[in-house]
Amino acid sequence: MTNSETLFEQAQKYIPGGVNSPVRAFRGVGGTPLFFKHAEGAYLYDEDGQRYIDYIGSWGPMILGHSDQRIKDALHAQVDLGVGYGAPTSLETDMARKVCELVPSIELVRMVNSGTEATMSAIRLARGYTGRDKIVKFEGCYHGHVDSLLVKAGSGALTLGVPNSPGIPGSLAELTLTLDFNDIDGVRETFKEMGDQIAAIIVEPVAGNMNCIPAVPGFLEALREVCDEHGTVLIFDEVMSGFRVALGGAQELYGVTPDLTALGKVIGGGLPVGAFGGKREIMEHIAPLGPVYQAGTLSGNPLAMSAGLATLNAISEPGFHDRLTKKTVALRDGLKAAADATGIPLAVQGAGAMFGFFFTEEPSITRFDQVMDCDTERFKKFFQGMLKEGVYLAPSAFEAGFTSAALTDEDIADTIKAAKKVMATL
Ligand code: PLP
Repeated sequence: MTNSETLFEQAQKYIPGGVNSPVRAFRGVGGTPLFFKHAEGAYLYDEDGQRYIDYIGSWGPMILGHSDQRIKDALHAQVDLGVGYGAPTSLETDMARKVCELVPSIELVRMVNSGTEATMSAIRLARGYTGRDKIVKFEGCYHGHVDSLLVKAGSGALTLGVPNSPGIPGSLAELTLTLDFNDIDGVRETFKEMGDQIAAIIVEPVAGNMNCIPAVPGFLEALREVCDEHGTVLIFDEVMSGFRVALGGAQELYGVTPDLTALGKVIGGGLPVGAFGGKREIMEHIAPLGPVYQAGTLSGNPLAMSAGLATLNAISEPGFHDRLTKKTVALRDGLKAAADATGIPLAVQGAGAMFGFFFTEEPSITRFDQVMDCDTERFKKFFQGMLKEGVYLAPSAFEAGFTSAALTDEDIADTIKAAKKVMATL
């Protein structure tokens, strides 16, 4: 028995399924999840002493790689000053100023502790601001485990086959209209019928929870248009894409401006952080300025702000995203070349430092139904093969991959070499 197997057995005695977030349980790929002991740069080291090249990056936050010295220094300095006060600090203003600078559509921002809190609060605010109840989301998009948003959701929910969770009142779920991602006509038709009842559209501008599907040209623009026509709040869920596909997120990359943005992952540098922000006029409806209630004991925690701010400062260095995107494209191209060389049909796509690959005959994937038609059995074999080769990919065919600045050209070459070897066995 490996150490990971022993530890997993023990964990299951006290933790539901042995994990604190379902996708970590490896149910989507089979086998036992690895337990990790430490991480450095682009590598994870498990409890059995194996090293893995990491393409999950703690599910997104570790854009600099693991144990970056700048983040460690920021954290150590703050630990000596106190780990939390439950009262305002100048760090929170520094963080808010930085977010507003990097994402110009954000005029006011509120810090929270997770991406889920960010989307949940943005939806409440949009409902409170418009006085409407209905919201629109897209099938296969995941916005955290918010009751209203766990309807036809992606990510772990999709991996486990429960995109609609029991425990969510039907009366609440029926206020969530689920449309097809990248289907402009479907959105227009729905808005023609009931646009004046819809508080918000929430969308992942680069869908990262049904593998990785960027918005097709014109889709985000159409969402902006219908929202403007009907007084609906446009929310970009940039928990994944924020600070990753470009410094200013997907809204910078695609040039479409939302009313509100939900952020998470990179903004916390690995600590539990989320944020939501946007137009001043809307954000002024949040308590204590306005009547829409939202709060948090640990919101804006100084340790979390220190790690997050150090990360945002580091990624603001000129050329950071260009370099990281180039690495990611090299990886994408290499995976495709490996597939071609071994005769495996594979579509590879992505945006900035997010990537996805699909075992499919289709040249590209833009829709949820296409994702569901991909060969998940082949994915499982590929995943397990890559793990044996020391490459840690997301343990689900429905998750995007993430690159980090710590990856070297050699790491990417090794990954491609491993992929070619494993694909030859599929
Ligand atoms: N929104 C998106 C796009 C996400 O990918 C996630 C998590 O993966 C969330 C929201 C929820 O964030 P958290 O897991 O921090 O609650």
